[in-house]
Amino acid sequence: MEYLGQKTGVIFNIQKFCIDDGPGIRTTVFLKGCPLRCTWCHNLEGLSQKVGLELDTIQCTHCGKCSEVCKEGCHQLIQDLSGIRHEMDLTHCIHCKACLEQCPQAAILVCGSEKTVDEVIEEVLVDRKFYENSGGGMTLSGGEPLLQGAFAQALLERAKEVGLHTCVETSGAVSAQVIEKVAPFVDLFLFDIKETDEAQHIHYTGQSYKQIHENLRTLNALGKAIRMRCPIIPGVNDRESHFDALVALYEELEYVEGIQLMPYHDLGIGKKSRYGLKKVGESFRVPSQEEAQGWQDNIDRKVEASHKKQLINK
Ligand code: SF4
Ligand code: SF4
Repeated sequence: MEYLGQKTGVIFNIQKFCIDDGPGIRTTVFLKGCPLRCTWCHNLEGLSQKVGLELDTIQCTHCGKCSEVCKEGCHQLIQDLSGIRHEMDLTHCIHCKACLEQCPQAAILVCGSEKTVDEVIEEVLVDRKFYENSGGGMTLSGGEPLLQGAFAQALLERAKEVGLHTCVETSGAVSAQVIEKVAPFVDLFLFDIKETDEAQHIHYTGQSYKQIHENLRTLNALGKAIRMRCPIIPGVNDRESHFDALVALYEELEYVEGIQLMPYHDLGIGKKSRYGLKKVGESFRVPSQEEAQGWQDNIDRKVEASHKKQLINK
């Protein structure tokens, strides 16, 4: 039988001292791979489950050695009125690593690595005293962390064995079986609800929301603590009917603790050239701080006035 700690998965970052990914100070482990293609995504490096490449545009001197060796045409040096720039498009990359080996500046890096459960947990445990003092722990994020379901489950199981508080930030776009398997090892789900209109959901994420909402209801039926985290994109889902539908879900589901809106930012746009993902992602208008605060205040008022609140107060 496979020893749990030796199970491997592909991750692209382990970020320390996170304060927005659940309670207290946390270490967030980012797993590669996502079944959705949200047009506003800012974690583009997490879309593919495979280990990829990253271009350090500061280090690159535009010498052209990578484009000479790449038989798939992934590296283009483009000269125009604004100067010379390096465009990397990994659509046809076969991961031969020839460009990495040829670059004299070490400007092409590997994005992502395969790690065992033991390796990840060992790194997470370095900050145990911070978790203990702040009520923090480990959060799994992505990509969609539950896409690597068996690895995510093994990580969470091991984290609980060593006494860590666990959160999973999920889009819910996985099978019901995966949700049910990981649930016993998760203290808090940070559950993304991106759209409440089916046609809009399909248009902007590439998938139906039906399984996602079903998984949200399954977690609620299992009595798991859930925080809804909802990206709000100007011109896409900043409408009153969407806010009302979010509050209706909150009212319906006993174990949903609250709704946190996540205003759009455009960090993903700069990553397109860095990770060779020319064909993904769109840019939208970035809301002002006042506008974003107005959305959250609006939701908070609706939550405050909701039937669920009145029931709790009785
Ligand atoms: S690793 Fe990909 S981008 Fe680099 S040379 Fe090989 S095919 Fe081209
Ligand atoms: S080989 Fe390295 S320095 Fe030269 S163009 Fe490619 S990435 Fe830039």
